Amino acid sequence: MKLKDSSLLRAGSYINGNWCTSSKEFDVTDPATGNIIGSVAEVTLEQIENAITGAKLAQKEWALKTAKERASALMYWYSLIMANQADLASIMTAEQGKPLRESVGEIAYAASYIEWFAEQGKRIYGDLIPQPSNDRRLLTIQQPIGVVSAITPWNYPSGMITRKAAPALAAGCSFIIKPSELTPLSALALAELADRANIPSGLFNVVVGLDAESIGNELTQNPAIRKFSFTGSTKIGKKLLAQCSSTIKRTSLELGGNAPLIVFDDADLDVAVRGAMGSKFRNAGQTCVCANRIMVQRGIYDTFIERLTVQISKLKIGHGHIEDTDIGPLISCAAVTKVDSLVKDAIAAGAQLVLGGKIDKQGKYFYQPTLIIDVKPNMRIAKEEIFGPVASIIPFDTEEQAISMANDTPYGLAGYFFSADIGRSWRVSEALEYGMVGVNEGILTSVQAPFGGIKESGMGREGSHYGFDDYLEKKYICMGNL
Ligand code: ADP
Repeated sequence: MKLKDSSLLRAGSYINGNWCTSSKEFDVTDPATGNIIGSVAEVTLEQIENAITGAKLAQKEWALKTAKERASALMYWYSLIMANQADLASIMTAEQGKPLRESVGEIAYAASYIEWFAEQGKRIYGDLIPQPSNDRRLLTIQQPIGVVSAITPWNYPSGMITRKAAPALAAGCSFIIKPSELTPLSALALAELADRANIPSGLFNVVVGLDAESIGNELTQNPAIRKFSFTGSTKIGKKLLAQCSSTIKRTSLELGGNAPLIVFDDADLDVAVRGAMGSKFRNAGQTCVCANRIMVQRGIYDTFIERLTVQISKLKIGHGHIEDTDIGPLISCAAVTKVDSLVKDAIAAGAQLVLGGKIDKQGKYFYQPTLIIDVKPNMRIAKEEIFGPVASIIPFDTEEQAISMANDTPYGLAGYFFSADIGRSWRVSEALEYGMVGVNEGILTSVQAPFGGIKESGMGREGSHYGFDDYLEKKYICMGNL
């Protein structure tokens, strides 16, 4: 990894404006090669306590600033992130593996949350409520919830952090983040830039360590923290939600998905193939909104598969730092093994392999872009999150059948469908039990829109003006005897 500014690489937690060291370190590796790219000091319990105490103090002062003052600080941070976009992207590709152009895109995406919430913070309004009797006036004000903690995964090492930190800071909260132990360097680089942007000490803290459970215990159970936000697996999310109950912490969760992508007979097939490719193969299929079950109506089944095969065959697999790479490594050997076992299981149960289906010659961390067809809804591959570059195609006959299959899952994050029929577009949009629906579109995330799931995919929304709701308390004030 070649950087213009190597001081963006930090080697320990950032707490109260200080860089911490400790007696234990852990290595960060390049998932494409397994080579060590850095070592980072593990946070200690005492340092986490300091972070919480400092965040509590800093938040009190920050909340007293005007929205405009908070916005200027955040805009400075935003501009430094964009000025260092190339280096930040390079760090991300080195520790996470995604193609460099996707990392460049993620940095802009991550920064967009800071810009948007800085602006939107100026529009946090209260209400005047018509009074029940004339000697009273009723009103609401919105106030920052207080200290916020968060835990994020490795698949979007920067975007998942700013999606939470930006509304928290813009609303007047302070923030403590534990990034994934697999991608701490991107988080620490964001902290370095927050420091350079003079974001006051104690407001943005990054705690890094291998012992996710102990750090998580503190971040979910310390009473000084008033809100906890998590992005990760449903299994861990459930556990952390239970932990938050001991102090009734406001909790938001962005968890796993099992996204259907339905292609109807009447769809524009070029649009549908493009949508399926974008949704499925971005980040080598390691996103929670990835099309996990591509359902294709019988009338166009063969044609769609032919066209998809052509596009998948063009994907170039390789190290994310090589310019024309489309598919990087998976995050670990364990991830490769899991994806391979899902594919093998489907084939053993009667699905047909059209393309791929093997660990690639590039090395043990790379899985070939794969296409399997004639998948049945009861196969493991249709029930579990694949989290790899595998398109799995299920045939269907009627709209009713597609909707019922699509909804037959405990998850409800993103769903997609392709149709040129306006009536069907409304019907299916309303019938899909998902927090987000893409109609003739395979990629739907943007800062202006509310991202989030229903059912076991989570609760709360990130982005859009709704993104503030989780970081604000509504206070009702009754003025009586007027
Ligand atoms: P993923 O499959 O994306 O790794 P996880 O839910 O395992 O999903 O991890 C997401 C985040 O949750 C990471 O930062 C990880 O360190 C953290 N994590 C994992 N297990 C725990 C735990 N028991 N307590 C707190 N955090 C955890």
